[in-house]
Amino acid sequence: MFDSITGSLRGIIGKIRHQDDVASLSRAISELKKAFLKADVHHKTTKDLLNAIELETKKIGIGQDNFIKVLKQELEKVLTANGNQGFVFSSTPPTVVLMTGLQGSGKTTTTGKLANYLKTRKKKVLVAACDLQRLAAVEQLKQIAKQIDVDIYFDDNEKDPIKIALAAKQKATRELYDVLLVDTAGRLAIDEELMLQLKDIKNAINPNEIFYVADALTGHDATKTATTFKEKIGIDGVILSKYDGDTKGGVALSIADQVNVPLRFIGIGEKMPDLEVFIPDRIVSRLLG
Ligand code: GDP
Repeated sequence: MFDSITGSLRGIIGKIRHQDDVASLSRAISELKKAFLKADVHHKTTKDLLNAIELETKKIGIGQDNFIKVLKQELEKVLTANGNQGFVFSSTPPTVVLMTGLQGSGKTTTTGKLANYLKTRKKKVLVAACDLQRLAAVEQLKQIAKQIDVDIYFDDNEKDPIKIALAAKQKATRELYDVLLVDTAGRLAIDEELMLQLKDIKNAINPNEIFYVADALTGHDATKTATTFKEKIGIDGVILSKYDGDTKGGVALSIADQVNVPLRFIGIGEKMPDLEVFIPDRIVSRLLG
């Protein structure tokens, strides 16, 4: 993971000389810029981060240790800027969560992983199968629910995902579930019909949280699509899937900084336990090697 930044860092830090050598700091900053851009960190995020790193290092004194300290501090600042990580429960159950994302992003799998995460924490969880767009999605969620032994609401005779979502919420409320996770339809690309459907479901069930599942492997596109979802329907958090396959790692920084929503979880594999709470300092350590 994160080959680009980690691989370059030793060389970058090695460029920094003694206290008064501003030129050596500038050289390191310019190398760091290349590493960030290569790692898919958004150009604006890169620019802001480098400015802050240069300024802060000068403030506390140019040197290799100070540079590393400031670098870590500034990366963590970006990743923690937008609020809570992990799962936030509403004051009155059920906590209703709308799971959104593009087709293939890992939305249905992540719905299962999140249900599993909550179940292992002794929560009563219901998942609702409202992705009627992708042919196999309902069947996939049924199998996942069986595998992790979590209840599922589906209606094979109903073609309207809004009605299914509403019925699921009624069941979750009536039967005192702690959490309802609603899997919704994705598309290969963002289109108006998808956004309208999501808005309608949102208005019908009034979720406590809307999560956007972003595929880390799509690099800059993940930031762009998350931004569009935020603008069109409003999202409260991002779950970054397929982080295990992401050798660049910069997408987490870009999303946190450009989309301005907290990263809540990361997907680190295809299996149900492969979901971790997004912990900024852990990510920074991985990023910097
Ligand atoms: P959906 O269309 O968004 O519902 O996508 P799926 O849930 O069907 O996932 C698409 C593919 O991504 C499947 O093969 C999943 O196993 C895989 N996948 C999902 N999350 C992860 C992850 O965190 N890591 C890896 N390596 N694969 C994942």
